[in-house]
Amino acid sequence: MIVRKKIWPQTIGDLLSMVFLLIIVLLMYWFGLWIILPEVYKDSSLPYTFHFVFGTFVMMNITGNFTYTVLCDTSIQRIIVPVSTWKTTNGWRLCATCECLSPPRSWHCNTCNTCILKRDHHCVFTGCCIGYYNHRYFLMFIWYLFLGAAYAFYYGHFFIWNRIPFEFPMSIIKMIFGVAIFFFGVDFSINQFYLLLYITSAVGTLYTGVLCIYHFNLTLKGIVANESNKKDFTYNMGWKNNIREVFGEQWYLTWLLPYIKSELPHDGVLWDNLCSKKN
Ligand SMILES: [Zn+2]
Ligand SMILES: [Zn+2]
Repeated sequence: MIVRKKIWPQTIGDLLSMVFLLIIVLLMYWFGLWIILPEVYKDSSLPYTFHFVFGTFVMMNITGNFTYTVLCDTSIQRIIVPVSTWKTTNGWRLCATCECLSPPRSWHCNTCNTCILKRDHHCVFTGCCIGYYNHRYFLMFIWYLFLGAAYAFYYGHFFIWNRIPFEFPMSIIKMIFGVAIFFFGVDFSINQFYLLLYITSAVGTLYTGVLCIYHFNLTLKGIVANESNKKDFTYNMGWKNNIREVFGEQWYLTWLLPYIKSELPHDGVLWDNLCSKKN
C-alpha cells in the first residue's frame, strides 16, 4: 500500500466529523461489551466469550478499515502516468489545478487538493476521498459500522427496557430529547446516558444501513457516486467482475480483515482494455 502524504483532515468540518465518529465507535464498543454483555450473559460463559470475541472482531474491522481508508493513497500522485498514454479523448481531461492530464474516472477534489483515481466521493468521517485504491476499505468500514450499530441496538433494546420501564409519554420525550435532557441536567443519570447510547445505536443502524445499500448497490453496478448522477454504465463489467474491481482477486477474503492482501485487477488509470474486454 502506498501511504498518502497528507493524512490529517484538511478542514475543521472533516476533523470534527472524524473525532465525533471515533468517539461514538469507542463508546459503542464500551457500551456493548462492558455494560450490556455482562447483564445479558454470565461472565466467562460460552455465549459471553463468543459475543466478546465477535464484538472485538467487529471493532477491529471498523478501526482497521478506517485506518486503511485514511492511509491509502488513491490520488493520481501515486502514479506517474507515461506521457505516451496521455490522451485528450476517451475521458482523459486536463486538470488545471494539478496541471496535468487526468485519467478517465478521476476527478479533482478541492479538499484533498488533488485528482483522485476513480473518485467516488469525499468522505468527511475519514477526512479523505474514496477512490480506486481505498474503495474496498471504505465499503468494509461502513459494513462493519452497520453491523456494530445493529448489534448494539439489538442487545441494547433488552438492556434498556429492563432498566428503564417504558412509561408513556415520558419515555418518548426522553428518547426524542435525549441529548437535551442529559446535558441540561434535567435527568443527569447513568440510565439516561445509556438511553442516549441506545438511541445513537438506533440512528447509527439506520444511517449506516442506508449508506451500505447505496454504496454496495453502486459497486454491483460497476459505477461510482459521481457516475450514478449521469447514469454512466460504461464500466459495468457484470456484478462478479465489478466486485473484483473493488475488492480485488481475493475478494472472498476481504471481509475478514483489512490486512489481507487482495491485488486489484487494474491500476485505476487505463480503462481502455477493460472496456474492450467487455465488448
Ligand atoms: Zn486535479
Ligand atoms: Zn477529497
